[in-house]
Amino acid sequence: MSFETLGLTPEICTAVNELGYTKATPVQKKVIPLVLDGKDIMATAQTGTGKTAAYALPILQLLSKKEIKEKTIRVIRSLVLVPTRELAAQVGKSIEAYGKNYNLKSCAVYGGVKFTPQTKKLERGIDILVATPGRLLEHIKQDNVDLSHVEIVVFDESDRILDMGFWEEIVTLSNMLPKKRQTLLFSVEHNKSLKRFSELTVIKPVKIDINNQGDLAKKVRQTIYVCDENKKSALLSYMIGSRNWHQVLVFTKTKKSADEVGAYLEDSGLKTLILHGDKAHSKRTKALKDFKAGTIRVLVATDIASRGLDIEELPHVINYELPGDAEDYIHRIGRTGRAGNEGEAISLVCKEEKSVLKDIERLLKYGLKVEFFEGFEPKDWVEKEARKHTLRGKIERSQEKRSKTANNVAGMRKKKANDRNAQKKATLRKRKKK
Ligand code: AMP
Repeated sequence: MSFETLGLTPEICTAVNELGYTKATPVQKKVIPLVLDGKDIMATAQTGTGKTAAYALPILQLLSKKEIKEKTIRVIRSLVLVPTRELAAQVGKSIEAYGKNYNLKSCAVYGGVKFTPQTKKLERGIDILVATPGRLLEHIKQDNVDLSHVEIVVFDESDRILDMGFWEEIVTLSNMLPKKRQTLLFSVEHNKSLKRFSELTVIKPVKIDINNQGDLAKKVRQTIYVCDENKKSALLSYMIGSRNWHQVLVFTKTKKSADEVGAYLEDSGLKTLILHGDKAHSKRTKALKDFKAGTIRVLVATDIASRGLDIEELPHVINYELPGDAEDYIHRIGRTGRAGNEGEAISLVCKEEKSVLKDIERLLKYGLKVEFFEGFEPKDWVEKEARKHTLRGKIERSQEKRSKTANNVAGMRKKKANDRNAQKKATLRKRKKK
């Protein structure tokens, strides 16, 4: 479906066409007409599905109807709240690109960077503000931001906003927003805590669920490599090197682990950078820029640092460790296979991570393909798991099952024959006595 048929103006359609978007994605098809129609919505969609454009395009169009003439004072008419700095920067850039044919101003404010340049931008006047909760409240305290004219609010990745402990901030902010407004609530997953978020923010929302794990699986080839915990780093560098991969995003569970894995890969001769919350924002931005440009081969990142990571045609994601939360697995593998491209997600799983793997499979509602890399496998698990997951194992198990059944049947027949014989003998004995 083209963007024109969704009711978008030529200004918007030209801007997206120039970005190479020819067809609307499923989330865009559903969300754009509803937003243009003034509805509150509650949508579940993974990153990578085109959800930013799904809300940004109609917002730009709605705000453009009342474009501000130069020299009149601009007020913030739309607020997009996001969980992380990276996502704020990414969304800010997308909005600028989508709205390039309109006289609308936008700006992204987030922590980890200097306050004053943001203040100056805000003072010049903007129509759309993209912000992380903490930095937004700081600007409000300094009287740099007034939310009383906001007409449309977006809570993007609201489940992540909650996961990151921003509930208090959300309550404070929602009390500052005008009651009469349009609200768009996006989340990666539906979870229980989202209920209270929606109760606080949206009114009779239209519910949309774009998540389709089947689709994700079709786009992203997922493989689990069961390996010995102590051999993970060696396997990782061997895999990247031997398969000649040139743009690989590696996820670790902790910052410490990211540092260690990054150092190991660098020592192995693979150009690597590390992205986690303890790195200065300038370093994080540079790491991302270099990785996107292809000047470094591997980016090792933690979950939080990777939010908002949008790299076109990123071919490989490797989970060095599985995430603590099964939902993060989906978020991680969604970094590849974006906007219709194919991707590959590999997870290195050791014995201790078995239960997380089960949780992930439960969430996905299907089992994942398990493989072994010769020389890196944990011996005791190999035999057991290989039998469970590999084709050979399945055949062996079914043969065993069949022979067990056959043995049982034979055993039962023998027992029946013995019973019959015993019965015959007993009858004969009785007859003789008579
Ligand atoms: P998002 O889910 O908003 O993070 O978008 C994921 C990626 O898809 C971004 O690189 C977008 O530029 C791209 N994208 C969004 N909509 C489309 C579309 N209709 N056609 C092609 N690419 C798109």
